[in-house]
Amino acid sequence: MNFAFVSSNPALDLAGTVWSRRDDPIDLLAAPADLERWVAECDELPDRVTADFATFESALSLREGIYRLALDRMLDRPFDPDSLDIVNHTAAGPVPTITLSDAGLHRSGDLRATLSYLARSGIAVLADPHACLKECGRTGCTRIYLDRSRGARRTWCGMDACGNRVKAAAYRARRRASTTAERRVPEKTA
Ligand SMILES: [Zn+2]
Repeated sequence: MNFAFVSSNPALDLAGTVWSRRDDPIDLLAAPADLERWVAECDELPDRVTADFATFESALSLREGIYRLALDRMLDRPFDPDSLDIVNHTAAGPVPTITLSDAGLHRSGDLRATLSYLARSGIAVLADPHACLKECGRTGCTRIYLDRSRGARRTWCGMDACGNRVKAAAYRARRRASTTAERRVPEKTA
């Protein structure tokens, strides 16, 4: 399965690397190499980092901390203290540096700095009273995203990942219903 960057915030995208959290969790970051690939694919992060096992473990705790805090925020309950510790501690480190050239903006830093950046990004969104955090409307998806749409009308984490699937399923259900209805007609007239 490909990584999706659909949450409008990289920390929430990190939390979204576990899919279907309640029913049958699918972890897209099974090994340090997966995390390296995820960082490389995420627009706001350095192009290349190396993940040793210890830093990989830290990334997973940060991910679970961010998920828990986002859930707390969505359910309007106090933040879990252990998750606050993890996220705040990670945010305290140095962050990647940015440089400007004719090629545009370039980010560089190691994985620790990258995690720090992710933690800060998570804190910024979790602390923002105007941020509208939602869980994807597709049953079982469990991805959390920041709804920036006008009037906060967004329903899915992403159209490709979920919106189109739900629409296709609804279309198939309508087709089934109408075929059944068509079959019933001759029975009635017979
Ligand atoms: Zn979804």
